[in-house]
Amino acid sequence: MFLGYDLHSHSTASDGTLTPTALVRAAAAAGVKVLALTDHDNTAGIDEAQLAARESGIQLLPGVEISVTWERQTVHLVGLNFDHKNSALQDGLKALQAFRVGRAEEIALRLGKAGIPDALEGARSFSNGWLVSRTHFARFLVKIGVMPDMRKVFRHYLVHGKPGYVPGEWASLEQAIGWITDAGGQTVIAHPARYRMTRSKLRRLIKAFAAAGGAGLEVVSGSHSRDDCFNMARHAKDFGLLASAGSDYHGPEHPWIELGRLPQLPDGCVPIWRDWGISSPQARAI
Ligand code: AMP
Ligand code: MN
Ligand code: MN
Ligand code: MN
Repeated sequence: MFLGYDLHSHSTASDGTLTPTALVRAAAAAGVKVLALTDHDNTAGIDEAQLAARESGIQLLPGVEISVTWERQTVHLVGLNFDHKNSALQDGLKALQAFRVGRAEEIALRLGKAGIPDALEGARSFSNGWLVSRTHFARFLVKIGVMPDMRKVFRHYLVHGKPGYVPGEWASLEQAIGWITDAGGQTVIAHPARYRMTRSKLRRLIKAFAAAGGAGLEVVSGSHSRDDCFNMARHAKDFGLLASAGSDYHGPEHPWIELGRLPQLPDGCVPIWRDWGISSPQARAI
């Protein structure tokens, strides 16, 4: 039995491979009743996705996955259910988009020095123009045969200490939570088990996040094991945080992650959607 909610997904507005319309149709076909489109650092796909959702008879919530730097580490926060026309939020996201432009140029420069020319044009050819992410570079490097798969490209070229890695400062925890809260939404820590932090560092992050007004943790994630899920449920309970659930779907090229194929939240979790006033997808399905 699957959840009916999928509150973390990507389209061609960032590094997903389906257009917002195709993503919504795929979600509806997979039985998702409530989908959040959460592209990296931009909301350019939301209007199109909402239109498609009306046609498909599902609910589409505005979302965004904001890149944050906390204690010199990159952490992703997912904002949900906010006014995506809010100008302070858009100004904040614009600063991150501008940082990405310069970073992409620098990544290409460094890859050039490592013997891989024309990587900026190559990465751009995989992006629909809204934003360039490391994923687009990885797809280009796979295409030209530098590495056989994306995972290897990241490991050998795009992470800290490798030739194409560019350090940088994203938003602060407080900024990102402030933008989402002021636009009427809620913020959750995306895929909290994926940061390779010690348990005590992760709990420090969660504590700082809760103190800054964060609302919840992504307890159920496409990249969480069953154990991760129960551990994150425990952390959410300890810090009085709500629980969210999302696949982090990027498209059919990554078949190990499917839209909406998410288990129920562990017992004792308070779902982030509890007070959203949406009738339960299960109730609707009966
Ligand atoms: P960026 O936000 O541009 O730094 O790119 C981060 C994105 O790269 C993430 O959202 C993932 O979609 C993708 N990514 C990160 N690590 C890996 C990996 N090891 N293999 C494949 N994709 C990855
Ligand atoms: Mn991504
Ligand atoms: Mn992420
Ligand atoms: Mn994501």
